Amino acid sequence: MKQPLKDFVCHGVSWAGLMPAFRSLFAGRAAIIMFHEIQREFRLELATGTSISLFEHSLSWLRREGWEIVSLEECLERVSRDDRSRRYAVLTFDDGYRDNVSVALPILERHNAPFLMYVPTGAPTRTLQAWWLGLRELFRSRDDVTIDAMDTRFHCPDFEAKVSALARAAQWVHQDYQRATMLGPTFHKAGVSLSALNEAYFLDEQEIQVLSRHPLVSFGGHTTSHPALKTLDSASARAEMADNKRYLQDLTQRPVRHFAYPYGDPKACGPREENLASDAGFSTAVTTRPEQLCTQHLNQFALPRLFVGGFDSEIAFQARMNGLQQAVHMLLRDPRHLMQLHSSS
Ligand SMILES: [Zn+2]
Repeated sequence: MKQPLKDFVCHGVSWAGLMPAFRSLFAGRAAIIMFHEIQREFRLELATGTSISLFEHSLSWLRREGWEIVSLEECLERVSRDDRSRRYAVLTFDDGYRDNVSVALPILERHNAPFLMYVPTGAPTRTLQAWWLGLRELFRSRDDVTIDAMDTRFHCPDFEAKVSALARAAQWVHQDYQRATMLGPTFHKAGVSLSALNEAYFLDEQEIQVLSRHPLVSFGGHTTSHPALKTLDSASARAEMADNKRYLQDLTQRPVRHFAYPYGDPKACGPREENLASDAGFSTAVTTRPEQLCTQHLNQFALPRLFVGGFDSEIAFQARMNGLQQAVHMLLRDPRHLMQLHSSS
């Protein structure tokens, strides 16, 4: 279904007061939420992360609606023993961005909310080929961008055009992750330095060490160089996980038990990577499959996560947490669910 139609249905159901009925039918009792950057300058960063206002709203709404924000361990423990007394949310942040400390941490502290950060070694060591930051910098700073590898010239003089050009270029990489390296010459020609962007946007080693002593934080693995693991041979994929785990444990002097697959979609991870994560000594691994947690089919090495950010409205966030967006998909696939909804409301 097209996004505007989906939004219309979600808003319609919300206004019609059907949210509680949807919730009782479709909502899981637990969800792992995925954030990346929490941005003060949301538009300047081309709306690529989560705005500070949506982030604040998310946490306040979770508390108000009776969700308990817990560690991943506690959440899985509650789900596995089918504890229905509360609903549980786990907050995760990928890649180790500076604004997770400068912007998000004071808000997390105010809510006494534990959180988990998945950090690739390349971020604090300033070697990460963060092509997504390179592309954003290109479109942010120029009105005309030529990407030779795509054989495309973008004219993007305003915010809307920049956002849409960035989305198209990022989509081109997501279609085939090997293409990420093909952007190198474009960055070089434009004077965009990925190591300078590492410095500007990612926490450094000392900041991670200081943060690791904070009582609310835990760190999880996210590989050494942030590759799509499925594109690597087994030995390289194994080393990406194990080396990063060792690095983070040495740096923080804390055990690193959890793992996030870079990109986390079916093109980047599957059953082989689940086995590798288990072999590397992790106890869980998260994907980016956008679902809530449920007791049935709970695979500790392929846990789903709900992304919150971009142009999400507050209503869209609430609908996602209430299982509404998932429900709309299900209803379209099998309208017999509508009968259930009718009899429960
Ligand atoms: Zn990542």
